[in-house]
Amino acid sequence: MHFDPKALDRPNGMYLDGTLVEAAGEEFVISCPSDTDLKLPVRMATPEDMDRAVESCRKAVRDSGWATMGPRPRAEILNRWADLVDRHAADIAALEALVSSRPYTEVMSRDVKVVSLALRMFSAYADTHESSVTATPARQLSFTRDEPYGVIGAISPWNFPVILAAWKFAPALAAGNGVVLKPSEFTPFGILRIAQLAREAGLPDGIFNVVLGDGSVGQTLVRHPGVDYVTFTGSSRTGAAIMADAATHGLKPVSLELGGKGPQVVFDDAKDLDHIADLVARGVTYNSGQACFSGSRLIVQSGVKQALIERIAARMARVRPGPTWADGITLPPVINQSQLNRMAGIVSQSVNEGGVLLCGGHAMEERGQFFEPTILDGIGPDNIAFREEIFGPVLSVDTFETFDQAIGKANHPDYGLTASVWTRDIDVAMAASRRIESGTVWINHWGRAMDMTSPFGGLKRSGIGKDMGRQGYGKYLKTKAIWMEIEEPA
Ligand code: NAD
Repeated sequence: MHFDPKALDRPNGMYLDGTLVEAAGEEFVISCPSDTDLKLPVRMATPEDMDRAVESCRKAVRDSGWATMGPRPRAEILNRWADLVDRHAADIAALEALVSSRPYTEVMSRDVKVVSLALRMFSAYADTHESSVTATPARQLSFTRDEPYGVIGAISPWNFPVILAAWKFAPALAAGNGVVLKPSEFTPFGILRIAQLAREAGLPDGIFNVVLGDGSVGQTLVRHPGVDYVTFTGSSRTGAAIMADAATHGLKPVSLELGGKGPQVVFDDAKDLDHIADLVARGVTYNSGQACFSGSRLIVQSGVKQALIERIAARMARVRPGPTWADGITLPPVINQSQLNRMAGIVSQSVNEGGVLLCGGHAMEERGQFFEPTILDGIGPDNIAFREEIFGPVLSVDTFETFDQAIGKANHPDYGLTASVWTRDIDVAMAASRRIESGTVWINHWGRAMDMTSPFGGLKRSGIGKDMGRQGYGKYLKTKAIWMEIEEPA
């Protein structure tokens, strides 16, 4: 056991003006996914609390010098914050693992490092970002200057809590904005601990505030007149509601990272079926399938179908469920009971609609909430397992014969976040990467590296805009055109 879940000192409240303060709203009780007997209350923010958080951030943007100082001094502060995050990694990891589906060992080896890497990397982008002089006649000079928006309202989900929050606050702050972050109501603790390190790093008070609460608190943030830009990661349905709210409350720009339904397209000539089976099985069981980039639809050419499915099923049978604080687990818990019920409901409806259950399909009997890795065969576009983002360890299977069929099946009518193509033929790979409608296409690969240069974001109901990469930094700046008349000296 990496930590004792009952003995952790949890930060609680809102992080406001550089310190933790009590929120005045209703109590929300988090049920720990790894041990549902463990109930952890947090207090949500009221609309008045949100006013305080946004106003304090506006004031800090106006008065602290954060927005107007050069990128280098900002980078020094953010780099110090990154060092502190690394130094407190064990504490952050325990708090993150306590209420999320993230295993402690993975948070230590990956999630916390992504946070510190994002702070360092986007600071470096800020240092190298340049605006432009446009082509003007000699007596005029027109140039652009990219300026921070002001206050960024950031809303994040529960499935990779500290990573997905950092994808937003690191570039937004590096660009000179202030940020008011509302993490998921299910997973506040790791983020609050990270926030508590900001003051020691030298971040001006108020430049980064964290407000806890559910969707209604998120809605208050989006609608707040003091918020200049909204950045969101979560479900497609919430993303659409946020876009509508942002349109009618100030016409604010939004960027939305939403759901996915990623295809794994495997051609007969693909090399090393064992390696592919490793990554397809991992791609749908990683974080128990609670990942927007989950490779949840296997679209396989008929010649390798049987051999590949046998290999994937064998790997799924070897998963080790367990609480996030245990060693060596490969199947973490599902975030809450309603998600677990939803997975079971979709699988059973899928079978009623003609899907063939090859393995799994049920909740496990362990303490906590676990769902068996599941394979459903014969899943065409009319089946619920094709239509819905299941957000669980459920792989649907469909078969193809020709290249055109493969592309037709890979392109989902609603989602377009990530896709994988497995083939030895470079022409097939490149043509598929062009014709698959998806924000990311991996060739002979599945999964994001720690590297942050590659932008991430979806098409259709998978989102608008990018996180990460230069695009994920530049979106937090607005371009102003400046035009000067130049008098010839007499
Ligand atoms: P969710 O949409 O239920 O909630 C996300 C966040 O939005 C939470 O903080 C929630 O409190 C808040 N919220 C809910 N209603 C709101 C409203 N009306 N206004 C403002 N805020 C509101 O999503 P979730 O269940 O927390 O996360 C899972 C979803 O996130 C999945 O669909 C997954 O695919 C998606 N996701 C996408 C990415 C990506 O990068 N594309 C990454 C991770 C997760």
